[in-house]
Amino acid sequence: MAATSADYNQFVSETSFYNRMVLSHLLPANLWEPLPHFLQTWLRNYLAGNILYFISGFLWCFYIYYLKLNVYVPKDSIPTRKAMLLQIYMAMKAMPWYTLLPAVSEYMIEHGWTKCYSTLDHFNWFVCLLYIALYLVLVEFMIYWVHKELHDFNFLYKHLHATHHMYNKQNTLSPFAGLAFHPLDGILQAVPHVIALFIVPIHHITHLSLLFFEGIWTASIHDCIHGNIWPIMGAGYHTIHHTTYKHNYGHYTIWMDWMFGSLRVPLAEEDSFKEKAK
Ligand SMILES: [Zn+2]
Ligand SMILES: [Zn+2]
Repeated sequence: MAATSADYNQFVSETSFYNRMVLSHLLPANLWEPLPHFLQTWLRNYLAGNILYFISGFLWCFYIYYLKLNVYVPKDSIPTRKAMLLQIYMAMKAMPWYTLLPAVSEYMIEHGWTKCYSTLDHFNWFVCLLYIALYLVLVEFMIYWVHKELHDFNFLYKHLHATHHMYNKQNTLSPFAGLAFHPLDGILQAVPHVIALFIVPIHHITHLSLLFFEGIWTASIHDCIHGNIWPIMGAGYHTIHHTTYKHNYGHYTIWMDWMFGSLRVPLAEEDSFKEKAK
């Protein structure tokens, strides 16, 4: 799909606005204004990604390990500071690479290579929601298979995904593990969001919001708190993935694992600390 120059201008003025919104609040103008548009976009994603990672991680840890101590996580299962610092260190090493992906995808969006749109002409709620659902199903399907192949191919597992599976016990997993991946592993698991843009027409802001939600989601499935809300693949399921290595490859829901026979439901006794404490 070729972009008309009006579409291109519309996208670039929108993305320039986001760049300005983030960068002008965080950096002196002479540091970022001279940069080419692509690098500004990357820098905006990089800084926003870090802020999202630290705010969501710290708030979540503060809530579950301090404010609600012993409610969700027993005191002796709180990950050590060393484990969390190592997860932060790994996430920080990978962050410049992760954030290259949305910068590249924004470049493709601006040039009209995807089906992403930015206007609200002919907007229709029903069609819009249908496309969002389709987008999510596609992303879920692709993440399932990317994740499964990362386990099934020894080479990929050893060189990429093993880094994330260093954390294989309840008391080593924390919300900060959500982005503790080898950079290429993290990118591969996020690529479905970019591929989906070429298949499903979706509004640009919806796409950005879903990426934002992704940052929060990945922190939440590593907190080891089993919410048990069907059909959500919450942390209870993902903790099993980290301990058995061959179940629950899915991302948002249990459907793909159910369909492809790799689902393992957390046992009632694993349900929550609260239950155990009774
Ligand atoms: Zn895995
Ligand atoms: Zn994980």
